[in-house]
Amino acid sequence: MTGGTAGAVRQSMVIANWKMYKTAAEAEMFVERVKEEVKAVKEVEMVICPPFIALESLSRLMGDSNLLLGAQNMHWEKEGAYTGEISPLMLKESGVKYAIIGHSERRRYFGENDAIVAQKFSAALSFGLIPVLCVGENQQQRSAGETEKVVQEQLLTALKEVDENRDILGKMVLAYEPVWAIGSGTAAYPEDAASVATFIRSLLQERLGDLSQQVRILYGGSVKPENIRDFTSRENIDGALVGGSSLKETVFVQLVQAVR
Ligand code: PEP
Repeated sequence: MTGGTAGAVRQSMVIANWKMYKTAAEAEMFVERVKEEVKAVKEVEMVICPPFIALESLSRLMGDSNLLLGAQNMHWEKEGAYTGEISPLMLKESGVKYAIIGHSERRRYFGENDAIVAQKFSAALSFGLIPVLCVGENQQQRSAGETEKVVQEQLLTALKEVDENRDILGKMVLAYEPVWAIGSGTAAYPEDAASVATFIRSLLQERLGDLSQQVRILYGGSVKPENIRDFTSRENIDGALVGGSSLKETVFVQLVQAVR
């Protein structure tokens, strides 16, 4: 648990982003094994974001566990002629609680810009899904000293259309993921990540007031069991969004145990 200055207590969190890894059968095997290992964990919220095809079966398997289900992406419309897409309503019906929005791989390979991300962000909230909004600079922007500028633009655009009085906004999750750190094996320096997290909290404070103290801010980018505590022990970092290291049962359990 981490605390906000206005008295809010934020539950720590580990989100596993499996990207396009694991068949449904492999995903089921993972959950069967891991749910036993983590059944005593109360301090850390644990979210698995598998490929869409595994959502239904994992939802059933997770029913009697403390693991929660997340989606890696979603469309912003309830339904329509959008071949290959999945709607927030469909996710909700499949037992999904969280939806990752604006992951840098979506921005880079699928052309998602801040305007699209904003539409998805606001749609997730309307359908009662909790958005996990990813923000972060690429290597070039980092070298140019533009980290805060980029993060500010991404965050404020996503928040533009939402009504700041809605309590659900306090539940949203922000993931600071420097693009250059994702999948590279080179994590950010924890003090740099903490400084960006504090900057994000200050932007949220300006936009949302006290509600901002409830928002969880995660770090993501080459997190592993050996370094996760270096991030989550910082004041404004409430957990981690983890890709590669979350794919192995034993390593996922180690990540969670390290945060407890
Ligand atoms: C991610 O996919 O969001 C991520 C942080 O990946 P990795 O942990 O592999 O860097």
